[in-house]
Amino acid sequence: MKSNHELPSDVLKHLISILGNRISTKDVDLLSYSRDYWPITLHWMLKGKIPALARAIVWPKNTKEVQEVVKIAYENDIPIYTYGGGSGVLGGAIPEQGGIVVDMKKMRSIKLHEENLLVEVEAGTNGYYLEKYLNKKGYTLGHFPQSLYPSTIGGWIATKATGQFSTKYGGIEDMVLGLEAVLPWGDVVTLKPHVRSATGPDLKTLFIGSEGILGIITKAWLKIWPYPEKRILLSFASETLEEALDSVNRILKRGARPAVVRIYDVVETKRHFYKFDEVYGKIATIIILEGDSKLVEAEKQIIEEEFKGKALGEDLVKHWLETRFNVKEASEFAPLGVVFDTIEVSIHWNKAIKLYRSLINVMRSVKGTLFASAHASHFYPQGVCFYFTFAGIPKGDPTEYYNKVWDAAMKTTLEVGGAISHHHGIGRQRGKWLKEDLGPAFEVLKRVKNALDEKKIMNPRNMEV
Ligand SMILES: Cc1cc2nc3c(=O)[nH]c(=O)nc-3n(C[C@H](O)[C@H](O)[C@H](O)COP(=O)(O)OP(=O)(O)OC[C@H]3O[C@@H](n4cnc5c(N)ncnc54)[C@H](O)[C@@H]3O)c2cc1C
Repeated sequence: MKSNHELPSDVLKHLISILGNRISTKDVDLLSYSRDYWPITLHWMLKGKIPALARAIVWPKNTKEVQEVVKIAYENDIPIYTYGGGSGVLGGAIPEQGGIVVDMKKMRSIKLHEENLLVEVEAGTNGYYLEKYLNKKGYTLGHFPQSLYPSTIGGWIATKATGQFSTKYGGIEDMVLGLEAVLPWGDVVTLKPHVRSATGPDLKTLFIGSEGILGIITKAWLKIWPYPEKRILLSFASETLEEALDSVNRILKRGARPAVVRIYDVVETKRHFYKFDEVYGKIATIIILEGDSKLVEAEKQIIEEEFKGKALGEDLVKHWLETRFNVKEASEFAPLGVVFDTIEVSIHWNKAIKLYRSLINVMRSVKGTLFASAHASHFYPQGVCFYFTFAGIPKGDPTEYYNKVWDAAMKTTLEVGGAISHHHGIGRQRGKWLKEDLGPAFEVLKRVKNALDEKKIMNPRNMEV
Protein backbone atom coordinates (compact mmCIF):
# COMPACT_ATOMS: atom_id res chain seq x y z
CA MET A 1 0.00 0.00 0.00
CA LYS A 2 1.27 3.46 -0.90
CA SER A 3 1.47 5.65 2.15
CA ASN A 4 2.92 9.02 3.02
CA HIS A 5 3.82 9.81 -0.57
CA GLU A 6 2.43 12.35 -2.97
CA LEU A 7 -0.47 10.94 -4.94
CA PRO A 8 0.78 9.77 -8.35
CA SER A 9 -0.01 12.47 -10.93
CA ASP A 10 -2.23 10.15 -13.01
CA VAL A 11 -4.27 9.37 -9.87
CA LEU A 12 -4.65 13.06 -9.14
CA LYS A 13 -5.71 13.75 -12.73
CA HIS A 14 -8.24 10.93 -12.59
CA LEU A 15 -9.72 12.28 -9.34
CA ILE A 16 -9.94 15.80 -10.80
CA SER A 17 -11.72 14.44 -13.87
CA ILE A 18 -14.42 13.04 -11.56
CA LEU A 19 -14.63 15.74 -8.90
CA GLY A 20 -13.64 18.94 -10.70
CA ASN A 21 -12.68 21.49 -8.09
CA ARG A 22 -13.97 19.38 -5.18
CA ILE A 23 -10.48 18.09 -4.44
CA SER A 24 -7.65 19.84 -2.65
CA THR A 25 -3.98 19.19 -2.01
CA LYS A 26 -3.43 22.61 -0.42
CA ASP A 27 -1.49 22.63 2.87
CA VAL A 28 -4.24 24.57 4.62
CA ASP A 29 -6.80 21.87 3.81
CA LEU A 30 -4.45 19.00 4.63
CA LEU A 31 -3.79 20.65 7.99
CA SER A 32 -7.51 21.16 8.68
CA TYR A 33 -8.09 17.42 8.26
CA SER A 34 -5.03 16.34 10.26
CA ARG A 35 -7.02 15.67 13.42
CA ASP A 36 -10.46 15.22 14.92
CA TYR A 37 -11.55 16.06 18.51
CA TRP A 38 -9.19 13.56 20.17
CA PRO A 39 -8.22 15.78 23.12
CA ILE A 40 -4.56 14.76 23.42
CA THR A 41 -3.90 15.97 19.87
CA LEU A 42 -4.53 19.53 21.10
CA HIS A 43 -1.38 19.17 23.20
CA TRP A 44 0.54 17.78 20.23
CA MET A 45 -0.57 20.67 18.03
CA LEU A 46 0.43 23.22 20.68
CA LYS A 47 3.93 21.73 20.51
CA GLY A 48 3.92 21.89 16.70
CA LYS A 49 3.36 18.15 16.20
CA ILE A 50 0.81 17.45 13.47
CA PRO A 51 -0.92 14.08 14.02
CA ALA A 52 -0.93 13.15 10.29
CA LEU A 53 -1.34 14.67 6.85
CA ALA A 54 -3.41 13.25 4.01
CA ARG A 55 -2.24 13.71 0.41
CA ALA A 56 -5.61 14.96 -0.81
CA ILE A 57 -9.03 15.89 0.53
CA VAL A 58 -12.06 15.12 -1.65
CA TRP A 59 -15.68 16.25 -1.34
CA PRO A 60 -17.91 13.85 -3.31
CA LYS A 61 -21.51 14.94 -3.77
CA ASN A 62 -23.20 11.61 -4.43
CA THR A 63 -22.76 7.86 -4.02
CA LYS A 64 -21.55 7.47 -7.61
CA GLU A 65 -18.65 9.85 -6.93
CA VAL A 66 -17.77 8.05 -3.68
CA GLN A 67 -17.73 4.83 -5.68
CA GLU A 68 -15.38 6.30 -8.30
CA VAL A 69 -12.99 7.62 -5.64
CA VAL A 70 -12.93 4.27 -3.83
CA LYS A 71 -12.30 2.39 -7.09
CA ILE A 72 -9.31 4.61 -7.85
CA ALA A 73 -7.95 4.11 -4.33
CA TYR A 74 -8.48 0.35 -4.60
CA GLU A 75 -6.74 0.07 -7.95
CA ASN A 76 -3.79 2.14 -6.73
CA ASP A 77 -3.52 0.80 -3.14
CA ILE A 78 -4.15 4.21 -1.58
CA PRO A 79 -5.53 4.50 1.96
CA ILE A 80 -8.95 6.11 2.40
CA TYR A 81 -10.13 7.96 5.51
CA THR A 82 -13.79 8.85 5.73
CA TYR A 83 -14.44 12.15 7.47
CA GLY A 84 -17.85 13.20 8.79
CA GLY A 85 -17.88 16.13 11.19
CA GLY A 86 -14.50 15.27 12.70
CA SER A 87 -16.07 15.32 16.17
CA GLY A 88 -14.85 11.82 17.05
CA VAL A 89 -12.88 11.91 20.29
CA LEU A 90 -10.52 8.98 19.78
CA GLY A 91 -8.56 9.84 16.63
CA GLY A 92 -10.58 7.55 14.35
CA ALA A 93 -10.67 10.02 11.44
CA ILE A 94 -6.95 10.89 11.51
CA PRO A 95 -5.29 10.03 8.15
CA GLU A 96 -2.48 8.16 9.82
CA GLN A 97 -0.96 6.83 6.59
CA GLY A 98 -1.58 9.80 4.33
CA GLY A 99 -3.81 8.83 1.42
CA ILE A 100 -7.17 10.40 0.61
CA VAL A 101 -9.60 11.92 3.09
CA VAL A 102 -13.19 11.60 1.85
CA ASP A 103 -15.20 14.38 3.48
CA MET A 104 -18.88 13.42 3.29
CA LYS A 105 -20.44 16.78 4.13
CA LYS A 106 -21.57 17.59 0.59
CA MET A 107 -23.86 14.54 0.72
CA ARG A 108 -26.78 15.94 2.66
CA SER A 109 -30.07 15.22 0.91
CA ILE A 110 -33.07 14.31 3.05
CA LYS A 111 -36.26 12.53 2.01
CA LEU A 112 -39.14 12.06 4.44
CA HIS A 113 -41.37 8.96 4.27
CA GLU A 114 -44.04 10.26 6.62
CA GLU A 115 -46.52 7.41 6.32
CA ASN A 116 -43.84 4.91 7.42
CA LEU A 117 -42.21 7.14 10.07
CA LEU A 118 -38.89 6.99 8.24
CA VAL A 119 -36.36 9.47 6.98
CA GLU A 120 -33.93 8.66 4.17
CA VAL A 121 -30.80 10.73 4.64
CA GLU A 122 -27.38 10.98 3.04
CA ALA A 123 -24.48 10.23 5.35
CA GLY A 124 -22.83 13.66 5.30
CA THR A 125 -25.95 15.41 6.63
CA ASN A 126 -25.31 17.45 9.74
CA GLY A 127 -27.13 16.15 12.83
CA TYR A 128 -28.58 19.48 13.94
CA TYR A 129 -29.73 20.25 10.39
CA LEU A 130 -31.58 16.91 10.19
CA GLU A 131 -33.27 17.41 13.56
CA LYS A 132 -34.42 20.94 12.62
CA TYR A 133 -35.73 19.65 9.29
CA LEU A 134 -37.72 16.95 11.09
CA ASN A 135 -39.03 19.36 13.75
CA LYS A 136 -40.45 21.64 11.04
CA LYS A 137 -42.37 18.67 9.65
CA GLY A 138 -43.64 17.67 13.11
CA TYR A 139 -41.15 14.88 13.90
CA THR A 140 -38.01 14.15 15.87
CA LEU A 141 -35.23 11.60 15.49
CA GLY A 142 -34.69 11.61 19.26
CA HIS A 143 -30.90 11.51 18.79
CA PHE A 144 -29.10 14.31 20.64
CA PRO A 145 -25.42 13.65 21.18
CA GLN A 146 -23.71 16.55 22.88
CA SER A 147 -21.95 16.93 19.52
CA LEU A 148 -25.26 17.39 17.66
CA TYR A 149 -23.99 20.58 15.99
CA PRO A 150 -20.63 19.35 14.58
CA SER A 151 -21.41 15.68 13.75
CA THR A 152 -22.93 13.81 10.80
CA ILE A 153 -25.33 10.92 10.36
CA GLY A 154 -22.58 8.74 8.82
CA GLY A 155 -20.31 9.49 11.77
CA TRP A 156 -23.08 8.55 14.22
CA ILE A 157 -23.55 5.19 12.53
CA ALA A 158 -19.84 4.54 12.08
CA THR A 159 -19.12 5.19 15.78
CA LYS A 160 -22.35 3.64 17.14
CA ALA A 161 -23.19 6.91 18.82
CA THR A 162 -25.88 7.57 21.36
CA GLY A 163 -27.64 10.73 22.47
CA GLN A 164 -28.75 12.42 25.66
CA PHE A 165 -32.37 11.21 25.15
CA SER A 166 -31.34 7.57 24.71
CA THR A 167 -33.24 6.02 27.60
CA LYS A 168 -36.45 6.51 25.57
CA TYR A 169 -35.28 6.63 21.94
CA GLY A 170 -32.29 4.27 22.11
CA GLY A 171 -28.87 4.57 20.50
CA ILE A 172 -28.28 5.04 16.76
CA GLU A 173 -28.39 1.23 16.35
CA ASP A 174 -32.07 1.35 17.38
CA MET A 175 -32.81 4.00 14.75
CA VAL A 176 -31.10 2.60 11.63
CA LEU A 177 -33.56 0.51 9.63
CA GLY A 178 -31.45 0.26 6.49
CA LEU A 179 -28.31 1.68 4.94
CA GLU A 180 -26.25 2.01 1.79
CA ALA A 181 -22.47 1.67 1.74
CA VAL A 182 -19.62 1.70 -0.74
CA LEU A 183 -17.43 -1.35 -0.21
CA PRO A 184 -13.61 -1.24 -0.26
CA TRP A 185 -13.44 -2.37 -3.92
CA GLY A 186 -16.02 0.20 -5.04
CA ASP A 187 -19.28 -1.78 -5.26
CA VAL A 188 -22.39 -0.36 -3.61
CA VAL A 189 -24.49 -2.43 -1.24
CA THR A 190 -28.00 -1.50 -0.06
CA LEU A 191 -29.22 -3.16 3.11
CA LYS A 192 -32.90 -2.49 2.67
CA PRO A 193 -35.03 -0.72 5.28
CA HIS A 194 -37.56 -3.53 5.76
CA VAL A 195 -39.73 -3.30 8.87
CA ARG A 196 -38.12 -6.56 9.93
CA SER A 197 -36.68 -9.42 7.93
CA ALA A 198 -35.48 -12.93 8.68
CA THR A 199 -33.09 -13.16 5.77
CA GLY A 200 -29.93 -14.36 7.42
CA PRO A 201 -27.67 -12.36 9.71
CA ASP A 202 -28.47 -8.66 9.85
CA LEU A 203 -25.68 -7.35 7.61
CA LYS A 204 -26.34 -3.67 8.27
CA THR A 205 -25.06 -4.14 11.81
CA LEU A 206 -21.62 -4.83 10.30
CA PHE A 207 -21.43 -1.14 9.46
CA ILE A 208 -22.84 0.16 12.74
CA GLY A 209 -19.71 0.84 14.78
CA SER A 210 -17.37 -0.03 11.88
CA GLU A 211 -15.47 3.30 12.19
CA GLY A 212 -14.60 3.51 8.50
CA ILE A 213 -12.71 0.19 8.34
CA LEU A 214 -15.22 -1.77 6.21
CA GLY A 215 -16.45 0.80 3.72
CA ILE A 216 -18.10 4.20 3.41
CA ILE A 217 -21.68 4.59 4.61
CA THR A 218 -23.39 6.81 2.05
CA LYS A 219 -27.04 6.76 3.09
CA ALA A 220 -29.32 5.56 5.89
CA TRP A 221 -33.00 5.06 6.57
CA LEU A 222 -33.74 6.14 10.13
CA LYS A 223 -36.83 5.67 12.29
CA ILE A 224 -38.49 8.89 13.43
CA TRP A 225 -41.10 9.83 16.06
CA PRO A 226 -43.94 12.36 16.10
CA TYR A 227 -42.70 15.53 17.81
CA PRO A 228 -43.51 15.06 21.51
CA GLU A 229 -46.80 16.54 22.59
CA LYS A 230 -45.70 17.11 26.16
CA ARG A 231 -42.51 17.42 28.19
CA ILE A 232 -42.20 17.08 31.97
CA LEU A 233 -39.05 18.16 33.82
CA LEU A 234 -38.15 16.62 37.19
CA SER A 235 -35.12 16.74 39.45
CA PHE A 236 -34.08 15.25 42.77
CA ALA A 237 -31.37 15.52 45.41
CA SER A 238 -30.17 12.25 46.95
CA GLU A 239 -27.76 11.57 49.79
CA THR A 240 -25.93 8.76 48.01
CA LEU A 241 -25.24 7.57 44.47
CA GLU A 242 -26.60 4.12 45.41
CA GLU A 243 -29.95 5.66 46.40
CA ALA A 244 -30.29 7.51 43.10
CA LEU A 245 -29.22 4.52 40.97
CA ASP A 246 -31.61 2.18 42.82
CA SER A 247 -34.45 4.63 42.23
CA VAL A 248 -33.86 4.67 38.47
CA ASN A 249 -33.50 0.89 38.42
CA ARG A 250 -36.97 0.54 40.00
CA ILE A 251 -38.47 3.10 37.60
CA LEU A 252 -37.19 1.20 34.56
CA LYS A 253 -38.39 -2.14 35.98
CA ARG A 254 -41.90 -0.71 36.14
CA GLY A 255 -41.71 0.07 32.43
CA ALA A 256 -41.36 3.85 32.50
CA ARG A 257 -38.95 5.21 29.86
CA PRO A 258 -37.88 8.76 30.62
CA ALA A 259 -36.09 10.31 27.63
CA VAL A 260 -33.31 11.79 29.75
CA VAL A 261 -31.95 10.53 33.06
CA ARG A 262 -28.67 11.85 34.42
CA ILE A 263 -27.28 11.20 37.87
CA TYR A 264 -24.27 13.34 38.89
CA ASP A 265 -21.79 12.41 41.60
CA VAL A 266 -21.01 15.00 44.28
CA VAL A 267 -18.11 16.54 42.33
CA GLU A 268 -20.13 16.90 39.13
CA THR A 269 -23.20 18.13 40.98
CA LYS A 270 -21.05 20.97 42.33
CA ARG A 271 -19.58 21.65 38.90
CA HIS A 272 -22.78 21.62 36.84
CA PHE A 273 -25.24 22.99 39.40
CA TYR A 274 -23.06 25.42 41.37
CA LYS A 275 -25.89 27.99 41.28
CA PHE A 276 -28.24 25.69 43.20
CA ASP A 277 -27.60 25.57 46.97
CA GLU A 278 -30.18 22.83 47.44
CA VAL A 279 -27.93 20.21 45.77
CA TYR A 280 -24.59 21.31 47.23
CA GLY A 281 -22.80 18.24 48.61
CA LYS A 282 -25.52 15.94 47.26
CA ILE A 283 -26.23 13.74 44.25
CA ALA A 284 -28.32 15.58 41.65
CA THR A 285 -30.59 13.68 39.27
CA ILE A 286 -32.40 15.25 36.35
CA ILE A 287 -35.18 13.56 34.41
CA ILE A 288 -37.07 14.55 31.25
CA LEU A 289 -40.23 12.76 30.20
CA GLU A 290 -41.66 13.40 26.76
CA GLY A 291 -44.23 12.03 24.34
CA ASP A 292 -47.99 11.57 24.43
CA SER A 293 -49.38 13.60 27.35
CA LYS A 294 -51.31 10.70 28.92
CA LEU A 295 -48.30 8.41 28.79
CA VAL A 296 -45.88 10.93 30.29
CA GLU A 297 -48.33 11.75 33.10
CA ALA A 298 -48.41 8.03 33.95
CA GLU A 299 -44.60 7.88 33.87
CA LYS A 300 -44.40 10.92 36.12
CA GLN A 301 -46.55 9.15 38.67
CA ILE A 302 -44.27 6.10 38.61
CA ILE A 303 -41.21 8.29 39.10
CA GLU A 304 -42.77 10.15 42.01
CA GLU A 305 -43.64 6.84 43.64
CA GLU A 306 -40.21 5.27 43.13
CA PHE A 307 -37.62 8.04 43.42
CA LYS A 308 -36.16 8.15 46.93
CA GLY A 309 -34.80 11.67 47.26
CA LYS A 310 -35.93 15.26 47.66
CA ALA A 311 -37.97 16.47 44.67
CA LEU A 312 -36.60 19.82 43.42
CA GLY A 313 -38.77 20.77 40.46
CA GLU A 314 -37.82 22.12 37.04
CA ASP A 315 -35.00 24.64 37.56
CA LEU A 316 -32.05 22.23 37.50
CA VAL A 317 -33.37 20.64 34.33
CA LYS A 318 -33.91 24.01 32.66
CA HIS A 319 -30.32 24.92 33.53
CA TRP A 320 -29.13 21.64 32.00
CA LEU A 321 -31.21 22.22 28.84
CA GLU A 322 -29.64 25.67 28.44
CA THR A 323 -26.06 24.47 28.92
CA ARG A 324 -26.06 20.94 27.54
CA PHE A 325 -24.12 21.72 24.35
CA ASN A 326 -21.42 23.85 26.04
CA VAL A 327 -17.98 22.32 25.47
CA LYS A 328 -15.50 25.15 25.30
CA GLU A 329 -13.56 24.16 28.42
CA ALA A 330 -11.50 21.47 26.60
CA SER A 331 -9.75 23.88 24.24
CA GLU A 332 -9.44 26.58 26.90
CA PHE A 333 -7.51 24.40 29.31
CA ALA A 334 -4.99 22.69 27.01
CA PRO A 335 -2.86 25.84 26.55
CA LEU A 336 -2.61 26.01 30.36
CA GLY A 337 -1.05 22.55 30.44
CA VAL A 338 -4.19 20.81 31.67
CA VAL A 339 -4.68 17.34 30.22
CA PHE A 340 -8.34 16.51 30.04
CA ASP A 341 -10.56 13.76 28.66
CA THR A 342 -13.76 11.81 29.15
CA ILE A 343 -14.16 8.02 29.30
CA GLU A 344 -17.56 6.33 28.95
CA VAL A 345 -18.09 2.70 29.90
CA SER A 346 -21.11 0.49 30.56
CA ILE A 347 -21.82 -2.04 33.28
CA HIS A 348 -24.60 -4.27 34.62
CA TRP A 349 -26.57 -2.99 37.60
CA ASN A 350 -25.04 -5.47 40.04
CA LYS A 351 -21.54 -4.08 39.47
CA ALA A 352 -22.39 -0.43 38.84
CA ILE A 353 -21.22 1.01 42.14
CA LYS A 354 -18.10 -1.15 42.15
CA LEU A 355 -17.14 0.10 38.70
CA TYR A 356 -17.81 3.72 39.60
CA ARG A 357 -15.68 3.59 42.76
CA SER A 358 -12.86 1.57 41.20
CA LEU A 359 -12.49 3.88 38.21
CA ILE A 360 -12.60 7.06 40.26
CA ASN A 361 -9.92 5.61 42.57
CA VAL A 362 -7.54 4.45 39.86
CA MET A 363 -7.82 7.68 37.89
CA ARG A 364 -7.26 9.79 41.00
CA SER A 365 -4.25 7.70 41.96
CA VAL A 366 -2.31 8.61 38.79
CA LYS A 367 0.23 11.27 39.71
CA GLY A 368 -0.77 14.67 38.38
CA THR A 369 -4.54 14.13 38.47
CA LEU A 370 -6.49 17.14 39.72
CA PHE A 371 -9.87 15.48 39.69
CA ALA A 372 -11.81 12.48 38.42
CA SER A 373 -15.60 12.57 38.50
CA ALA A 374 -18.59 10.97 36.79
CA HIS A 375 -22.24 11.00 36.00
CA ALA A 376 -24.49 8.16 34.90
CA SER A 377 -25.88 9.25 31.55
CA HIS A 378 -27.65 6.34 29.81
CA PHE A 379 -29.86 3.73 31.43
CA TYR A 380 -31.20 0.30 30.52
CA PRO A 381 -33.21 -2.28 32.44
CA GLN A 382 -29.95 -4.28 32.54
CA GLY A 383 -27.47 -1.59 33.49
CA VAL A 384 -26.00 1.83 33.06
CA CYS A 385 -23.36 3.96 31.32
CA PHE A 386 -20.96 5.98 33.46
CA TYR A 387 -19.31 8.97 31.85
CA PHE A 388 -16.07 9.83 33.62
CA THR A 389 -14.13 13.07 33.31
CA PHE A 390 -10.54 13.50 34.42
CA ALA A 391 -8.11 16.38 34.34
CA GLY A 392 -4.53 16.69 35.46
CA ILE A 393 -1.43 18.85 35.23
CA PRO A 394 1.41 16.39 34.75
CA LYS A 395 4.98 17.41 35.53
CA GLY A 396 6.34 15.50 32.53
CA ASP A 397 5.03 14.50 29.11
CA PRO A 398 1.25 15.11 28.74
CA THR A 399 0.82 12.03 26.53
CA GLU A 400 2.52 9.79 29.08
CA TYR A 401 0.19 11.03 31.83
CA TYR A 402 -2.83 10.74 29.53
CA ASN A 403 -2.02 7.13 28.63
CA LYS A 404 -1.45 6.21 32.28
CA VAL A 405 -4.97 7.35 33.19
CA TRP A 406 -6.47 5.59 30.18
CA ASP A 407 -4.54 2.38 30.92
CA ALA A 408 -5.72 2.39 34.52
CA ALA A 409 -9.34 3.04 33.53
CA MET A 410 -9.49 0.43 30.76
CA LYS A 411 -7.73 -2.26 32.80
CA THR A 412 -10.08 -1.69 35.73
CA THR A 413 -13.18 -1.68 33.53
CA LEU A 414 -12.19 -5.05 32.08
CA GLU A 415 -11.42 -6.46 35.54
CA VAL A 416 -14.80 -5.38 36.92
CA GLY A 417 -16.59 -6.77 33.84
CA GLY A 418 -17.71 -3.64 31.97
CA ALA A 419 -17.57 -2.74 28.27
CA ILE A 420 -14.56 -0.52 27.48
CA SER A 421 -16.72 1.86 25.41
CA HIS A 422 -20.40 2.71 25.68
CA HIS A 423 -20.65 5.16 22.77
CA HIS A 424 -17.45 6.95 21.71
CA GLY A 425 -16.06 3.85 20.01
CA ILE A 426 -12.47 2.66 19.65
CA GLY A 427 -10.51 4.86 17.21
CA ARG A 428 -6.76 5.09 17.76
CA GLN A 429 -6.84 5.55 21.53
CA ARG A 430 -8.72 2.42 22.58
CA GLY A 431 -7.46 -0.10 20.00
CA LYS A 432 -5.05 -1.84 22.30
CA TRP A 433 -7.84 -2.93 24.67
CA LEU A 434 -10.31 -4.04 22.02
CA LYS A 435 -8.78 -7.49 21.71
CA GLU A 436 -9.23 -8.17 25.41
CA ASP A 437 -12.75 -6.78 25.47
CA LEU A 438 -13.88 -8.94 22.53
CA GLY A 439 -11.91 -12.08 23.42
CA PRO A 440 -12.08 -14.72 20.66
CA ALA A 441 -14.61 -12.54 18.81
CA PHE A 442 -11.72 -10.21 17.94
CA GLU A 443 -10.55 -12.85 15.45
CA VAL A 444 -14.02 -12.78 13.84
CA LEU A 445 -13.77 -9.01 13.43
CA LYS A 446 -10.27 -9.34 11.96
CA ARG A 447 -11.40 -11.94 9.44
CA VAL A 448 -14.39 -9.85 8.43
CA LYS A 449 -12.04 -6.90 7.91
CA ASN A 450 -9.59 -9.01 5.88
CA ALA A 451 -12.35 -10.54 3.77
CA LEU A 452 -14.00 -7.22 2.91
CA ASP A 453 -10.87 -5.10 2.70
CA GLU A 454 -8.14 -7.46 1.59
CA LYS A 455 -5.94 -4.55 0.50
CA LYS A 456 -6.43 -2.83 3.88
CA ILE A 457 -7.10 0.56 2.35
CA MET A 458 -10.10 1.50 4.52
CA ASN A 459 -8.93 3.52 7.51
CA PRO A 460 -5.91 1.25 7.97
CA ARG A 461 -4.95 0.38 11.56
CA ASN A 462 -7.99 2.11 13.02
CA MET A 463 -9.27 0.05 15.98
CA GLU A 464 -6.00 -1.92 15.62
CA VAL A 465 -7.86 -4.49 13.54
C1 LIG B 1 -18.08 17.88 22.58
C2 LIG B 1 -18.38 16.51 22.10
C3 LIG B 1 -19.47 15.85 22.59
C4 LIG B 1 -19.77 14.56 22.16
N1 LIG B 1 -20.90 13.95 22.62
C5 LIG B 1 -21.22 12.72 22.18
C6 LIG B 1 -22.43 12.09 22.62
O1 LIG B 1 -23.22 12.66 23.37
N2 LIG B 1 -22.69 10.85 22.16
C7 LIG B 1 -21.85 10.21 21.30
O2 LIG B 1 -22.14 9.08 20.92
N3 LIG B 1 -20.70 10.79 20.88
C8 LIG B 1 -20.38 12.02 21.28
N4 LIG B 1 -19.23 12.61 20.84
C9 LIG B 1 -18.33 11.90 19.94
C10 LIG B 1 -18.62 12.16 18.43
O3 LIG B 1 -19.33 13.34 18.25
C11 LIG B 1 -19.36 10.99 17.84
O4 LIG B 1 -18.49 9.89 17.81
C12 LIG B 1 -19.94 11.23 16.44
O5 LIG B 1 -20.77 10.15 16.14
C13 LIG B 1 -18.89 11.37 15.37
O6 LIG B 1 -19.51 11.84 14.19
P1 LIG B 1 -18.69 12.64 13.09
O7 LIG B 1 -19.59 12.87 11.94
O8 LIG B 1 -18.06 13.84 13.68
O9 LIG B 1 -17.59 11.55 12.71
P2 LIG B 1 -16.02 11.71 12.49
O10 LIG B 1 -15.37 12.19 13.72
O11 LIG B 1 -15.76 12.45 11.24
O12 LIG B 1 -15.62 10.19 12.26
C14 LIG B 1 -15.67 9.25 13.29
C15 LIG B 1 -15.30 7.86 12.75
O13 LIG B 1 -16.29 7.41 11.85
C16 LIG B 1 -15.77 7.23 10.54
N5 LIG B 1 -16.78 7.74 9.61
C17 LIG B 1 -17.34 8.97 9.59
N6 LIG B 1 -18.28 9.05 8.63
C18 LIG B 1 -18.33 7.84 8.04
C19 LIG B 1 -19.09 7.29 6.97
N7 LIG B 1 -20.00 8.01 6.31
N8 LIG B 1 -18.85 6.00 6.61
C20 LIG B 1 -17.93 5.26 7.26
N9 LIG B 1 -17.18 5.72 8.27
C21 LIG B 1 -17.38 7.00 8.66
C22 LIG B 1 -14.46 7.99 10.52
O14 LIG B 1 -13.54 7.43 9.61
C23 LIG B 1 -14.00 7.85 11.96
O15 LIG B 1 -13.37 6.61 12.16
C24 LIG B 1 -18.91 13.91 21.26
C25 LIG B 1 -17.80 14.59 20.76
C26 LIG B 1 -17.53 15.88 21.17
C27 LIG B 1 -16.34 16.58 20.62
